[in-house]
Amino acid sequence: MIRLGNVLVSPGEGGVYGERTLDGYRVWDPYRSKLAALYMLGGGVDLAPDMKVLYLGAANGTTVSHVADYAGTVYAVEFAPRPMQDLLEVARRRKKIVPIMADAGRPEEYAPFMEAVDLIYQDVAQPDQVGIAERNLVFLKPGGHFILMLKTRSVDVRRDPVEVLGEARAGLERHLDIVDVRWLEPYHHDHAAIVCSRRG
Ligand code: SAM
Repeated sequence: MIRLGNVLVSPGEGGVYGERTLDGYRVWDPYRSKLAALYMLGGGVDLAPDMKVLYLGAANGTTVSHVADYAGTVYAVEFAPRPMQDLLEVARRRKKIVPIMADAGRPEEYAPFMEAVDLIYQDVAQPDQVGIAERNLVFLKPGGHFILMLKTRSVDVRRDPVEVLGEARAGLERHLDIVDVRWLEPYHHDHAAIVCSRRG
């Protein structure tokens, strides 16, 4: 991952969502992107051109566009029509992005368009975030990585975030090895990143 001084950047054509550029690179803002926050905090999985990625919760494609600057094919799943319109525009300019309008909780809807991937990145802010992750593991190659961005308030706003994180971690541990767990403070409140790998 490229940093210019203390600034995380990605190597692609700019002007996607009004992001700044620096020395010809696109600035990847950790306050706008949880994945950028994870990298700035010293975590994450390095992206490479030969990697295939399944991205769940693509929204309007801001983070997706940065991932596509580094990785190979990015399958970007989003179920809301409005952000999907923006995502389509981003995908029109970045041919490596495959936009898929579907419910990430129903992977059978997009299984026909998929191949095995090296990384699954999930940022869906739903109550059943671990269940959605479990249902998508069929696409993850042995030795591949899963990054779950857990929004604890979406799971249960009344519960202690630490307890919610512990439960999510235990759920993922049934299928995956946990590589790293960290809160995304000061960039994103009540969000934690759980980085896992699939046994080879
Ligand atoms: N990852 C995005 C980024 O960094 O630019 C932000 C994602 S936003 C927090 C969550 C997105 O997940 C929303 O656009 C929402 O519509 C989408 N989403 C939530 N549940 C979903 C589901 N079951 N299937 C597909 N998309 C979902």
